[in-house]
Amino acid sequence: MLGKINPKPALTLDEDMGRAMVKMEKLQKILAILPGVDCGLCGSPNCQALAEDVVNGDASLRQCIFLQKKRVAGDKTKITEAGKILDAVWGKNIFDGRAIDLEE
Ligand code: SF4
Repeated sequence: MLGKINPKPALTLDEDMGRAMVKMEKLQKILAILPGVDCGLCGSPNCQALAEDVVNGDASLRQCIFLQKKRVAGDKTKITEAGKILDAVWGKNIFDGRAIDLEE
C-alpha cells in the first residue's frame, strides 16, 4: 500500500517573503530575456526552470544556447568559451560529431 502522498510545494524562491518578491521580480526580467523555446539545451527542462535556477544562484544565463549564440555573434563570447559552458552542462565533448553551429 502506498504511503501518504504529499503535494509538491509551489514555486518557492525564498523563505523570506521580501527576498522572494525581489527574486520574483528578477525572475520576470530574466524570462523576458530568454527566448521561451523550452528546448532544454541549457540543462534545465524549460526556460522558467533556468530562470528559477539563475535567481537561486544555481545556474547562469550563459547556459542558454540562444543567448550564447547572440553573444558569440556579437563578439562578447568566444566560441571556445561557449563550448566550455556546454561541456560544463552536458559533460565534456558530448556534442562531438553532433556539432551545434553557434556561428551561423
Ligand atoms: S536553452 Fe534557452 S531556450 Fe532552451 S530551455 Fe534553456 S533557457 Fe530556454
